Amino acid sequence: MFDKILIANRGEIALRVIRAAREMGIATVAVHSTADSDAMHVRMADESVCIGPAPGPQSYLSMPAIISACEITGAQAIHPGYGFLSENAEFVQIVEDHGITFIGPTAEHIRIMGDKITAKDTMKELGVPCVPGSDGGVPDLESAKRIGEEIGYPVIIKATAGGGGRGMKVAQTAAEMESAFMTARAEGKAAFGNDEVYIEKYLTTPRHIEIQVFGDGKGNAVHLGERDCSLQRRHQKVFEEAPGPCITPEERAQIGKVCADAVAKINYIGAGTIEFLYENGEFYFIEMNTRLQVEHPVTEGIFGVDLVREQILVAAGEPMSFGQDDLEISGHAIEVRINAEKLPNFAPCPGKITAYHAPGGLGVRMDSALYNGYSIPPYYDSLIGKLIVHGRDRPEALARLNRALGELIVDGVDTTVPLFHALLQEPDIHSGDYNIHWLEHWLAENMA
Ligand code: ADP
Repeated sequence: MFDKILIANRGEIALRVIRAAREMGIATVAVHSTADSDAMHVRMADESVCIGPAPGPQSYLSMPAIISACEITGAQAIHPGYGFLSENAEFVQIVEDHGITFIGPTAEHIRIMGDKITAKDTMKELGVPCVPGSDGGVPDLESAKRIGEEIGYPVIIKATAGGGGRGMKVAQTAAEMESAFMTARAEGKAAFGNDEVYIEKYLTTPRHIEIQVFGDGKGNAVHLGERDCSLQRRHQKVFEEAPGPCITPEERAQIGKVCADAVAKINYIGAGTIEFLYENGEFYFIEMNTRLQVEHPVTEGIFGVDLVREQILVAAGEPMSFGQDDLEISGHAIEVRINAEKLPNFAPCPGKITAYHAPGGLGVRMDSALYNGYSIPPYYDSLIGKLIVHGRDRPEALARLNRALGELIVDGVDTTVPLFHALLQEPDIHSGDYNIHWLEHWLAENMA
């Protein structure tokens, strides 16, 4: 096992990793930008290294700075968290070339899944059901129009290098194809340096269901059921739960096995998430994330396992601490993402926290790097905390969420907390009757 690991991230996810490491008796190194000298992850880690100025590209994304920090402190492994360098195959290669262990999948698996066309081809070959669409990249507008006619409108044009909801455009009809095609290409080029796009059937009322998988890199893998992340704004998740309110035990077992078998076959190592759209009882693969997800705590809640601990174990070459038969669902878990944003437009709202009080009690987990007097810097994303609740069933989890939100105090900046108070008044949220468009419609009606 490692003696010391470095966490190449900040905020709540850096704390999350430090906590797991500390329970395993592993020393931790935090890295930080000059804007984060007073951040909680710096205070909580055993050691810290300043790796550059505030902007991400000069600090949290600076590969030489992070490798140097490892060498100076003698850290044997790097946990990348999510975002930043977590899905950067080049980084993984450089880390390994320096004799440091990357806590995550291989560079090759990251590369395959990071390109959405290659990912889809690979998954198709492994027997995972996919959204009908173009076979690979679409070279020009003529081909795009032809494919649109073939699969039938509406269609979605996606940048193969896209992510975070960027580089995707819907064409409702043939007339909209030209502008959707050109925009998706331009966004892919501008944001990801790659203008290749592909086309998929646009599903009109799907839910977003994702399967958590975990492999040991030696041909063994398990699944940890699904998360329903259908409540999204601009393709960004805001509320996640497990198990999915609409998924039956038979469906879970079936799609879970397909996913676990797929990753076992490629000797996948560590945590991964296979994302699907789910409509009329069918699953359609959209992408795989080769890292820990923001919403992993809901899975931890219902299975009572520590996914970061498992990531560290398998990275160190040790066996996972559970097999498929050990995994049994208990109750229901919900996570809400608390962002420093001003409603109704969700404008980022950095600033000084004048008062902070985290909720507590049975079944409540608050993952946050906030503290009284902390100043949220304007340079990074606006997630400032995740409130996760667990109950014996969904109604109990919802009641607990309501109670916990009532206890939470974040003064000094605007947050998305009022959104969740309002959502908890909605019958559809209580019945679980929503798809990926529900929240956008609700926002248009209630927050315009
Ligand atoms: P990203 O990598 O940018 O997150 P994804 O491929 O995971 O992109 O898609 C993000 C979201 O976009 C999905 O959760 C869903 O809301 C929507 N979406 C993606 N593909 C389709 C599709 N074929 N039909 C309908 N909605 C889609």
